[in-house]
Amino acid sequence: MDVKKYIERDPAVREMSQMRETVWINPRLLPVGITEESLQSVVSDKDIADAEARLGRFAPFIAERFPETRKDGGLIESSLDDIPSMREALEREYGCRIPGRLLMKMDSHLAIAGSVKARGGIYEVLKHAEDLAVAAGRLDYDESYLKLASPEMRDFFGRFTMQVGSTGNLGMSIGIMSAALGFKVKVHMSADARQWKKDLLRSKGVEVLEYDADYSKAVAEGRRLSGLDPSSYFVDDEKSADLFIGYAVAAGRLRTQLEEKGIVVDAGHPLIVYIPAGVGGAPGGVTYGLKRIFGDNVHCFFIEPARCPSVMLGIATQLFEKANVHDFGISGRTEADGLACASPSGFVTRIMTNLVSGGFTVEDRRLYDYLRLLDRMEGKRIEPSSCAAFIGPCNLLRTAASREYCSSHGLEDGKLAGSTQIVWATGGLLVPDEIWEEYLAYFIL
Ligand SMILES: *Cc1c(COP(=O)(O)O)cnc(C)c1O
Repeated sequence: MDVKKYIERDPAVREMSQMRETVWINPRLLPVGITEESLQSVVSDKDIADAEARLGRFAPFIAERFPETRKDGGLIESSLDDIPSMREALEREYGCRIPGRLLMKMDSHLAIAGSVKARGGIYEVLKHAEDLAVAAGRLDYDESYLKLASPEMRDFFGRFTMQVGSTGNLGMSIGIMSAALGFKVKVHMSADARQWKKDLLRSKGVEVLEYDADYSKAVAEGRRLSGLDPSSYFVDDEKSADLFIGYAVAAGRLRTQLEEKGIVVDAGHPLIVYIPAGVGGAPGGVTYGLKRIFGDNVHCFFIEPARCPSVMLGIATQLFEKANVHDFGISGRTEADGLACASPSGFVTRIMTNLVSGGFTVEDRRLYDYLRLLDRMEGKRIEPSSCAAFIGPCNLLRTAASREYCSSHGLEDGKLAGSTQIVWATGGLLVPDEIWEEYLAYFIL
C-alpha cells in the first residue's frame, strides 16, 4: 500500500514512520455524549453488565480450580497501588513533572494468566463454554457452575477445541483456562513469542504451534485451521467483541477501588490513564468501559513501541485494520513482545476513533530502564511490554502537543494537581525467576 499521502498529511504519522518517539493527539476525539447512541448499538452497557454477571456465575468454578482466587471469591481482579517512590524517581531521572497522584493498576499480577489477558481472554473462553454447555442442555444459568469442574463436564468439553493466535500472553490466558475446563487447545505463536511462554503452555498440555512470522500471520493461520474444524472455536483477537467486553468489565471494578481510596473523579478531579496497546483489544476495552463510567472526566492514552505503533496508525490514518506498520517503513520488531502487532484490530480502532485522547510511542531501550527503576523503587516487577506505559506520565507535560491537549481540555496546572494518573501494568506475574535476572541485566544502548 502506498502510504505517502498519510505521511505528508499528518506530522505525527511522519514521526511514527521514522520510528521516533511520538506524541499523537487524536483530532477526532469527541465529547462522549455525541457518539453515545451509535456506540451503544455496538457494545452496550447491558453487554458489559451481562459480562460482569457471567464472571460472577463462573466464580465458584474458578475458585475451585484456581485456589489462588479463593481470597477474592473466584473473581479475577488486581489491586490499585500507589507508587510514590516511582513517581519521584521518574521525575528525578527524566527531569519531568508528574502532577497529581500516580497509581498503578496491577493487571500484571492478575491471577491465572498473569496479564491483562486474564480479563478478555478468560472471559471469552468462559462465555464459549457456557454457550456450549447450555445449548447441550448440560447447564442452567441459575445452577451452581461448580458442576463444570466435574469429570463428566470435562469429557463434554474435551470434544471441542479452542484455538488462538498470540504473541504469548493471550495464548496463556486462553490456554490455561481452556485446559482447566477440559477443552483441547491449540495456540498459534508468532515469532516474537518468548520461549518461556511456550514452555509454560506446553507444561499445561496445550499444543503450541510456532510460526516464523509475525503476529498477523499467526492469527491468520490459526483462523484458517480452526475454520476447517466444526468442533473448533477461534478466539479472534483482531475482531472479537467478547474479548473487548471482558476487558471493559475492568472499569466498574476500578470505580469501586477508586471509591475505596476516597478518590473523586469529576470535572475538577480528572482521571488520566495510560495503557499499552498491541492489537488494541485490551486498551480499547478498558478505555471503552472507563468512558462509559467517567465520560469526559477520563482521558485515556495508548502507549505503543516506536517500532510498532499500529493502533495509533490505524486510528490516525483511518485505515483501521488495513494499516500495517511495514507499509510505513516501520520494522515491527520490538522487545515489547506483547505489543508486536503489525496491524491493529479493525473493530477496536473504529470504536476508539472518537474516544481515545491520543497516545505516546516509546523506544525499546527505555522499557528495561523503567523495569529496573520500578523494581528498585517499589519492589514491583512487570514485564518489558508493560513498562511502556511509564512514558505517558513522563511526557504528558513535556511535549508541546500533549501540553496543548491539556490546556484545551481544561487540564490546567491547578486541575492536574487534583488529578489521578494511572499507569496500567499489563503483564509480569508468570515471568520465571531466571528471566527476571535477564531482564534486570539487559541494556539497550
Ligand atoms: C496483550 C498485551 C497488551 C495489549 O493488549 P492488546 O489487546 O494486544 O492491545 C499489553 N501488554 C501486555 C503485557 C500484553 O500481553
